[in-house]
Amino acid sequence: MPEKVSSQTITGSQQPTAFDDERTPMITTSELIEHLYCSRFTYFLNCLKIPQHEELRYKVLKGRELHEKKEKTNVDYIRKRLGCIKKEVAVYLASKELRIRGIVDEVLFLSDGTLAPFDYKLTEYDDFIFRTHRIQSTVYAMLIMENYKKPVKRGFICYARSKNLVKELVYKDEDFNTTRAVIEEIFAIILYGFYPKKTRWPNRCIDCCYRNICV
Ligand code: SF4
Repeated sequence: MPEKVSSQTITGSQQPTAFDDERTPMITTSELIEHLYCSRFTYFLNCLKIPQHEELRYKVLKGRELHEKKEKTNVDYIRKRLGCIKKEVAVYLASKELRIRGIVDEVLFLSDGTLAPFDYKLTEYDDFIFRTHRIQSTVYAMLIMENYKKPVKRGFICYARSKNLVKELVYKDEDFNTTRAVIEEIFAIILYGFYPKKTRWPNRCIDCCYRNICV
């Protein structure tokens, strides 16, 4: 069975980067999310070894607070309306094949025999599930499938700022292909050290910890 750990144990700026353990080069799901936010994060963190000062980053801090709160308050809450019969909370999962590891907020055991990731987001739901959320959920699905050897057909995302609205994702082949491609893209930067383009959204640079060195 997958190892269950506290999210505080390995999340954040203290996480080892891909090359800290040369025997099993891996990225974390946090690094994947940062890459989707801006691919230069991957370059600064993994190629130049410049850590992020996440304690200064408001959004990350608030996100952690939410995770910690959910861990404490919802441990025994089973979402029967989603067909959930059992769940595991804050599950650490890793895959050498995918070269990725991370903590899933909740792994739901559904009445149809499938499993599903359940992920909490601090953001509002905005009529569509953001690409980042979809890819993150898909990578959790892939980690669950590999570690539990059970099918995963759908996942759930809970939007805390939309009154805990829960949205369901049904995974398509395209989701798995896109997620694999993003992981490949990250390792291409790490292995070959090319300098990625800036994010297309300049407002993301405003509170970026790398803004002073990013040209
Ligand atoms: S300053 Fe902008 S382009 Fe540079 S790393 Fe930060 S978000 Fe990306």
